Amino acid sequence: MKDFIRVFLEGIINNSKRILFASDRVTDIEMRNKILEGRVTPTDKVAEIPCIGCGGCSNVCPTGAVTMLDLDEPVEIIEGMVKKQIPVLNSEKCVNCYYCHDFCPLYALFGKAGTIHPNDVGEVELDIGDLLEKPIKISDDKLTFIAQYLSDSTVLKKRKI
Ligand code: SF4
Ligand code: SF4
Repeated sequence: MKDFIRVFLEGIINNSKRILFASDRVTDIEMRNKILEGRVTPTDKVAEIPCIGCGGCSNVCPTGAVTMLDLDEPVEIIEGMVKKQIPVLNSEKCVNCYYCHDFCPLYALFGKAGTIHPNDVGEVELDIGDLLEKPIKISDDKLTFIAQYLSDSTVLKKRKI
């Protein structure tokens, strides 16, 4: 569980500037326009198998477009880490800000495609077990700082898109 929390918090640290100050984001404006103009037909938005079910995408979505749904059967990803939920993205509420993708720890931590995307999650082939067992360097000070910062759950919601 501790590792799970570290993955989650490390994702936040790596993306805090992006999320809070909209800097260095990986938003594809061209793609965003295509989606908004109806020139791209969205397909699958969540890669359910490699998703680790951390809920980060749901937490960071400014419009509440991502809901975490309980799995019928929890899945053990690695020892001590069980996936109990997966996200579902509601396109009608989505404003294509891409925060969900940019925040996803699989992207934020490991530079792999995030397992959620407002347009099309595409092919996501990852060995999640190997990935999650990689060491993550994060100091206890940083952990404490971020944990305190996030205790104000309204911070992200107040951000203008
Ligand atoms: S891209 Fe859509 S689903 Fe993802 S965070 Fe932005 S509004 Fe929410
Ligand atoms: S899509 Fe990414 S951020 Fe969302 S629950 Fe899955 S692993 Fe976590």
